[in-house]
Amino acid sequence: MEKTPIIFTISNSLSKQVEEVIPKEENTVKMYSCGPTVYDFPHIGNIRYFVFVDILRRTLETLGYKVIQAVNLTDVEDKTIKGAQKEKVSLKKFTEKYTKCFFNDLKTLNIEEAEFYPKATENIKEIIEFITKLIEKGHAYEKDGNVYYKISSFEDYGKLSGMALSSLKQNAQGRLEDEYEKDDPRDFALWKAKVPEDGDIFWDSPWSKGRPGWHIECSVMSAKYLTNAYKSGKLNTDSFETIDMHTGGVDLIFPHHTNEIAQSEGVFGKQFIKYWVHCEHLLVDGKKMSKSAGNYYTLKDLLEKGFSPRAIRYAFLSTHYKQQLNFTIKNLENAENVITKLDNFVFFLNRIIKKAESTTTPVKQKKPKEEIIKIGEDAVTEFKNLLAEDLNIPKALSAMFEFINTINKRAKEIEAEDTRRILDALQEMDKVLGLFDFEQETSDVDDKVFELIEERNKARQKEDWKKADKIRDELKEKGIELIDTKEETYWKKAKIKVKEKKA
Ligand code: AMP
Ligand code: ZN
Repeated sequence: MEKTPIIFTISNSLSKQVEEVIPKEENTVKMYSCGPTVYDFPHIGNIRYFVFVDILRRTLETLGYKVIQAVNLTDVEDKTIKGAQKEKVSLKKFTEKYTKCFFNDLKTLNIEEAEFYPKATENIKEIIEFITKLIEKGHAYEKDGNVYYKISSFEDYGKLSGMALSSLKQNAQGRLEDEYEKDDPRDFALWKAKVPEDGDIFWDSPWSKGRPGWHIECSVMSAKYLTNAYKSGKLNTDSFETIDMHTGGVDLIFPHHTNEIAQSEGVFGKQFIKYWVHCEHLLVDGKKMSKSAGNYYTLKDLLEKGFSPRAIRYAFLSTHYKQQLNFTIKNLENAENVITKLDNFVFFLNRIIKKAESTTTPVKQKKPKEEIIKIGEDAVTEFKNLLAEDLNIPKALSAMFEFINTINKRAKEIEAEDTRRILDALQEMDKVLGLFDFEQETSDVDDKVFELIEERNKARQKEDWKKADKIRDELKEKGIELIDTKEETYWKKAKIKVKEKKA
């Protein structure tokens, strides 16, 4: 029998409330996530968002839901066209480079794969069909080969952004569309007739040779990949079903998601999305990140500085999604220490198991201690319950560290049978976190190292700094590096520097 999932609540930008998620189809959450515009390497702001989406997806799965997710790739809009023209390559070749990088980054950061990654350029036929329907229903009109959404035809236009239609500024849809003739300056483009700068990037349509606007692709691809609206390859407005969840960064609430609602509800006459979930922005050193301010990073930049993917993942996932994340290099250094702490803990457990396995005297099969089992199970329950409350990752992480600290305090009484239960608990938490390295090799660090660390801790307590430093040097000789933090000391295998060969 299938287990009933744990109740999950999330902040819905539409109702502005924290709501219980009740999927349309029992236990299956259909989720559409606005994906990258593939014109540049993803920056760490994008990465914060993709890590958030991953935590959301993994949490739902851990709580007992099945997730069906589509993440779109925006491969035709002003920036991708400009980039391809500048490099004098085809749009496909230009966007492939950045699409590849996006997928590599997801892999590096241990982000789970979505079920679908549709591209706008592979859905032009469906986009044209969708626009045709909008015209038929009186929500769109054609002018000089361009097609616009008629905002005044959709009463609920401001329901997500909270902006009344009448308060929208005259050039609300942005500078990029000013060059087009519209009935109303607030209307936005669904189809853009070819302009000379587009070169050979255009498709035939009933209105002109041209290309889709940005917003329409998400209405089309969400309906196509997550509902029955495109059954048998044709748009069927009767078979659309409200999609459970839609994610994006807060910058997308207006105009992108506002326009998506107008398009989809205009065509289907039904609620488009039940739960809108938006992730706050990332700042760098307290400021907006920008190339010109010199505080702009991609994942590659951070890896080149020597930070590990797991520390980077930790630095991005540890802030609540509704909070702005202030990224600093110092935070990343701290994150690196956190990962070392987790590794030390797993090492300690693996070492107990290894020792028990290698003992020559046969021991009676012992059972794990009831108390330890309970500590582990309670920690997992607490961890899941905290995530189930609007994805409270900071508190869930605290629960995990509390668990680690409790076990560390009882280190001397932990036996092999107990460690397996402790590892089970950690593995359950890691289904969401994706941070642990459970396969660490233990044979290349001898017991003497731990005796020395203990001796040094005692020396430090007595403020015998001379002895502490001497032991630090001794351990360095053995290839072990020590990291002293306010609370405790961690150790790690020193990185061996390979001499670069001279060319
Ligand atoms: P883009 O590639 O610009 O279309 O953005 C992809 C996703 O990243 C969108 O959901 C954006 O809202 C999100 N995003 C862009 N900049 C940031 C930022 N500084 N912090 C967090 N998310 C961002
Ligand atoms: Zn979108």
